[in-house]
Amino acid sequence: MELFRLTAHELAELLRKREVSSYELTRSVLTRIGEVEPQIQAFISVTGELALEMAQQADKLLSKGEAPSPLTGIPVAIKDNMCTRGVLTTCASKILGNFVPPYDATTVANLRKAGAVFVGKTNMDEFAMGSSTENSGIKPTFNPWDLTRIPGGSSGGSAAAVAADMTIVATGSDTGGSIRQPAACCGVVGLKPTYGLVSRYGLVAFASSLDQIGPITKDVADAALLLNVLAGHDPMDSTSANVNCPDYTQYLGQEIKGMRVGLPREFFGEGLDAEIESCVRAAVDQLHSLGAEIVEVSLPHSPYAVGTYYLCATAEASSNLARYDGVKYGLRVEADNIIDMFSRTRSAGFGTEVKRRIMLGTYALSAGYYDAYYLKALKVRTLIKRDFEQAFEKCDVIVGPTTPTPAFRLGEKTANPLEMYLSDIFTISVNLAGICGISIPCGITQSALPVGLQIIAPAFEEGRLFTVANAYEQATSWHRQRSQYLKV
Ligand code: GLN
Repeated sequence: MELFRLTAHELAELLRKREVSSYELTRSVLTRIGEVEPQIQAFISVTGELALEMAQQADKLLSKGEAPSPLTGIPVAIKDNMCTRGVLTTCASKILGNFVPPYDATTVANLRKAGAVFVGKTNMDEFAMGSSTENSGIKPTFNPWDLTRIPGGSSGGSAAAVAADMTIVATGSDTGGSIRQPAACCGVVGLKPTYGLVSRYGLVAFASSLDQIGPITKDVADAALLLNVLAGHDPMDSTSANVNCPDYTQYLGQEIKGMRVGLPREFFGEGLDAEIESCVRAAVDQLHSLGAEIVEVSLPHSPYAVGTYYLCATAEASSNLARYDGVKYGLRVEADNIIDMFSRTRSAGFGTEVKRRIMLGTYALSAGYYDAYYLKALKVRTLIKRDFEQAFEKCDVIVGPTTPTPAFRLGEKTANPLEMYLSDIFTISVNLAGICGISIPCGITQSALPVGLQIIAPAFEEGRLFTVANAYEQATSWHRQRSQYLKV
């Protein structure tokens, strides 16, 4: 049996019954990485030795019947912007190229407590700024469905690793679409939780009012298992919500009869690829045949979402990234005086896109422009949030495409940042509104590329996402499709 191909919930069963050991499973995943990684380049670090040690620990607990969670003994890949104690955490940036954190992010600590096995840190766009993983300061990652195409971004390494069966589950972070868009491009499941549900402590900050960590998995049930471990109140994060987290698996296997599914008219307009549109419409028909009621809704401020996001996110980034000055940690390029040292360190350490964002954000916050740009963006953000509140008066979930096009070719959008920014046109407003969304596979194009269906729910209603996504998944088989392109 090729253990690396299974899901966490399938493996949890086998591990619990001791039909396989975590050690065996971890070896199978590491061998798979050895075979496939040269073609995909999903990882910045593969932590083979640590993984085998953690697997042995997990096996001890499993043998005693003391596994703390269904994820005990399950291999997980962690996006390289989450601090891992004693393991290099680069954020795919030269400026953090030598950074080994002395502590774990809360999500990483939770995974450790659950007994999960860390197989490696995944590639990403530098500081999570991008939609293709081409902005990585280390290397690009290739889409397992077509090696000439991007895996999406910024969590492209995590999505590609899950899609190529190089890990069982992975974590990603999503500021404007960075979990859902790569999940759609790679044909896997990606969930962005409600702002505040998952702790950001130890997540390298990009835009603090938007960043959220979430699961990237092979199916919806695994996303629920992983969210169970990631979610929870954390006093170390002042924006962490003090809410009771249910066991998310209780929302699986529920009927969707009578549920109201809203289709925002703005998500089906110009710029949407025809094949994506037909896959998404077919998915909506499927939900209807499962008993859901389809209603039309409107999100009238959608056209302003990308502009609003690129003001809010860059403003926050310019402030967050001020800490990389060659003094506290990371890269330092010496000079005769401190100002030159700052400037040389930052010039050498940051890539082009990061510098562009710092400049944009600094400009938007500067005296004289603050009111015209940043303050205005905050006001529009409120209007976008209100659009969702009004839409959710008419429906329980909102459904639409995750991305406007399937995965594009490497190099296709690197010369035009604005075109790249438009990759997140359907995902960004969910972050601005602070609500939750999931992307699940819903089709394959003529050129054999996966298509993602986005389901959106109000704040802290992740349960609805699981119910609808799981019902759809049970009725279809898109999530079981794997790339035929990989040689092994
Ligand atoms: N692609 C968007 C950006 O470049 C979103 C990134 C993200 O969610 N981290 O900012």
